[in-house]
Amino acid sequence: MKIIAGNWKMNGTPSANVTLLEAIKDTVTVGEDKVIVFPPFLSIADAQRILKGTGIAWGAQNVHPAESGAYTGEVSVSMLKETGAEYCLVGHSERRQYFGESGQFLGDKVKALMAAGLIPVFCIGESLAQREQGIVGSVLKEQIASSLVPLADTLTNENFILAYEPVWAIGTGKTATPEDANNTMAEIRGILTELGLPRDLYILYGGSAKPENAKALLSKEHIDGLLIGGASLKADSFGAMVNWKER
Ligand code: PEP
Repeated sequence: MKIIAGNWKMNGTPSANVTLLEAIKDTVTVGEDKVIVFPPFLSIADAQRILKGTGIAWGAQNVHPAESGAYTGEVSVSMLKETGAEYCLVGHSERRQYFGESGQFLGDKVKALMAAGLIPVFCIGESLAQREQGIVGSVLKEQIASSLVPLADTLTNENFILAYEPVWAIGTGKTATPEDANNTMAEIRGILTELGLPRDLYILYGGSAKPENAKALLSKEHIDGLLIGGASLKADSFGAMVNWKER
């Protein structure tokens, strides 16, 4: 099974996203792969109403680890759970970069989600500068270690998903070559083993994935799925990526 996930980021108004959800419902045929959409918070209840029973799952792009309380502007795990969300992104590079989320805070989010039975999709990835300095392995290791080592005993390939998204490839049109992405993901499996985490976790690739490169990426041994930004905002291109085998 592969996992095809669409991160809508801060796009679409609630009414525009109803149209997109309906188009996805009409266009996307779920086969043996898992299909997930991550709309903005304001569209999650619509995702529940429109996608329920289609086999397409939905999730949130963020969560706060506290149960409830004085955290103005935040959304808790129990709020998500009541909307039928099964997944939640954690540690997307845009959250690390623009909102300064630390490794420990991200680990707290993972822990809170897993305690409630939601599946975190935990994102890691190096910047272009880090890549050029040749420190990809140590950057990824630090991102994994700082959030996940305290949870080592609880993570399995059923309750947790990893996403490798090289920051230089996100929204830039530059995709890592399938070989490059596959090699880095093999390296990530080595890091998981070194840190005492399960090496068989699902690992998604993200970064300018599109219908034209989906099959080449998904045919690689270590690439278990795709986390798709821009190309998930149109039902046709998202549907084409869900049907990657037929391309
Ligand atoms: C993302 O933000 O998770 C992403 C991979 O974006 P894009 O596909 O647009 O590069």
